[in-house]
Amino acid sequence: MADVFNKEKRSDIMRHVRSKGNKTTELKLIKVFKSFDITGWRRNYPVIGHPDFVFPDKHIAIFVDGCFWHGHDCRNTRPEDNKEYWEKKRQRNIEHDIQINKRFLSRGWTVIRIWECELQKKNQEKLLSKIAVLMN
Ligand SMILES: [Zn+2]
Repeated sequence: MADVFNKEKRSDIMRHVRSKGNKTTELKLIKVFKSFDITGWRRNYPVIGHPDFVFPDKHIAIFVDGCFWHGHDCRNTRPEDNKEYWEKKRQRNIEHDIQINKRFLSRGWTVIRIWECELQKKNQEKLLSKIAVLMN
């Protein structure tokens, strides 16, 4: 497939897409929260790192990470085009994620990272084990 944008332009576009967050995955997670009576979450909470959800009372930050962007080793999207370019970007995201985790942990927060693919029905058990700490 021909790339109609040059690298800079594409990079801008993708950054824009990413900065808006993935509404679909967030909404899926909200549905899960509701079905398990999990309350107390906030979106767009003004804290460094921009977690997708924050439970201020519990000091828990939740990130929903796109498998492609954050380098999950699953079957979600591994395009061969521009492989090196994406790989570099992914590496940067992964390193950034680690830094953010550290910041929260050093302040006594818990960080929960949920992979996009774990929001699929077939992976629900995995998801539930990650968010079990929110159920009480
Ligand atoms: Zn995945």
